[in-house]
Amino acid sequence: MKQRLLFLGPPGAGKGTQAQHLAESRGLLHLSTGDLLRGEVAAGTPLGQEAKTVMARGELVSDALVLAIVRSRLKQQAQAGGGGWLLDGFPRNVAQADALAALLEELGQQIELVVLMELDDAVLVQRLLARGRADDNESVIRHRLEVYRQQTEPLIAYYRERDLLAPVEAAGSVDAIAERIAAVIG
Ligand code: ADP
Repeated sequence: MKQRLLFLGPPGAGKGTQAQHLAESRGLLHLSTGDLLRGEVAAGTPLGQEAKTVMARGELVSDALVLAIVRSRLKQQAQAGGGGWLLDGFPRNVAQADALAALLEELGQQIELVVLMELDDAVLVQRLLARGRADDNESVIRHRLEVYRQQTEPLIAYYRERDLLAPVEAAGSVDAIAERIAAVIG
């Protein structure tokens, strides 16, 4: 079974739901940069204050900030004896992907599979509107999709070239999608 995984896909594709489910059932560390950032915002830390307005606009928080969060968690886990992990919402652009590659090289670890969750825009927008999070109003959603197209989508080719990409159809029930993901992870 592959146990060092990235979840890639547009906002609303259900990465968080599936990642949480998979991490629990297989004992992997689940790192969602969105959740970690929202935690910082809720706790009112300086980092959270910096991230808050950027997130509310649907823009990406600075690479340095996000990378510092991921670096400390992965190092902590490696020092505690290692194990599998699942990164959800990171990397989100090529600079973050390059930084992750350098970090993993440092830790002597490798990405084993990139699960790409694919879904139509119309369904994405409907799901996000139904979710109703602070940054889930229609104009911010449109902007997040735009940011995804411009900055995150190039990672599809990036990981395809590295022979790591596993596309999964993200339409249907939570259980049906979980089964498709389990099938590609092995
Ligand atoms: P979504 O389900 O819309 O993809 P996330 O919870 O992954 O939501 O992210 C919410 C917001 O947090 C993003 O719009 C962005 O502002 C910020 N964020 C999360 N991950 C990253 C990252 N890797 N780099 C920069 N910003 C991030």
